[in-house]
Amino acid sequence: MVRILNRRGAIMRAAVLMETNKPLEIKEVHLLNPKENEVLVKIGATGVCHSDLNAIEDPTTPTPTILGHEGAGIVVAVGSSVKTVKVGDKVALSWVPYCGVCEFCLDGTVNLCESAFGPMFDGTLLDGTSRLHINGETIYHNSLLSTFAEYAVVPEMSCVKLPDGMPMAQAALIGCGVATGYGAAVKAAGVTPGSTVAVFGIGGVGINAIQGAKIAGASKIIACDIKESNLELAKQFGATHTVNTSIPDSFEQIKGLTNGLGVHYSIDCTGNTRATETAWHSTRKGGTIVIVGAFNPNQTLNLPAGGFHRVGKTIKGSFYGDIQPLKDFPVIAQLYLDGKLKLDELILKTIKLDDINIAIDSFHNHSCSNVGRTVVTFD
Ligand SMILES: [Zn+2]
Ligand SMILES: [Zn+2]
Repeated sequence: MVRILNRRGAIMRAAVLMETNKPLEIKEVHLLNPKENEVLVKIGATGVCHSDLNAIEDPTTPTPTILGHEGAGIVVAVGSSVKTVKVGDKVALSWVPYCGVCEFCLDGTVNLCESAFGPMFDGTLLDGTSRLHINGETIYHNSLLSTFAEYAVVPEMSCVKLPDGMPMAQAALIGCGVATGYGAAVKAAGVTPGSTVAVFGIGGVGINAIQGAKIAGASKIIACDIKESNLELAKQFGATHTVNTSIPDSFEQIKGLTNGLGVHYSIDCTGNTRATETAWHSTRKGGTIVIVGAFNPNQTLNLPAGGFHRVGKTIKGSFYGDIQPLKDFPVIAQLYLDGKLKLDELILKTIKLDDINIAIDSFHNHSCSNVGRTVVTFD
């Protein structure tokens, strides 16, 4: 239970990463009040993402830190200049806040706004400072959110008001894999009714790219993965066909499912350049390949140069599913409430904050499903 310290902030419980590669420790943390353009959110639920494990293992993660970037909660206080949310609002959190005035924001590509990246790497909020301390020692933020805690102070532009009927655990999933996968299909690829789509890599993002392609009206949705269990799961979320891409020349199977032409849209969520090359060969002339997965920085893509101009294909990267959180999160929530987007099925189980290391450890068990999330819920 939080203890409000009035003008000095509050003391709350949080899961703290004290050092790289160590288990999270439940500690009492001092949370300062929000500044003028910040919001204090009582966290209702937070997903545990594979990116949290990456941050735990990454020596460049500033420590000590509170991880967690998939959250939802209730607004309990707002800074003096906050306009978009008010006390009592139910909000989902975005880990890509944006400034609204740079050239990228003015172009409508708020997912490409650079304002968040410096603070994201430094482990601070947008003004370069932290609101988190233990006995005067700075605790760093993560993704400007830090949702593995009872409360979080976050940028106003990270808060997106949701319909009141949206349940908390499902709302917590919207801001990461759901938005990225749905957005990759609906926004980045722009899947059209009746078209054909191949999704490569059926994990937390790919499963939602399949859902997005279904919502956009694709006639054939081909799930592509090297793991049979993932391909089986994909059928429950809208895949009409599956192809195991561990076999050589698997693109021939995908072409075989599309009159020998290839799909209109390929969405590659793998971060594996060989899968991207398969996606390229699986896509028809004039088609689009969207790359969502993050490659290892020293990798190079190998695509055939001969005839490149003749096939008229588009290959494009997509960050955060080309999502505009303020506009698209409520749409995603409404699709769930209308029964068109599955989120209940993406919740593997709910746990309490004290058990969070169990969820982190489960990422090391390769027999566990990587479709869906363990969600930490708070009272
Ligand atoms: Zn995530
Ligand atoms: Zn901007």
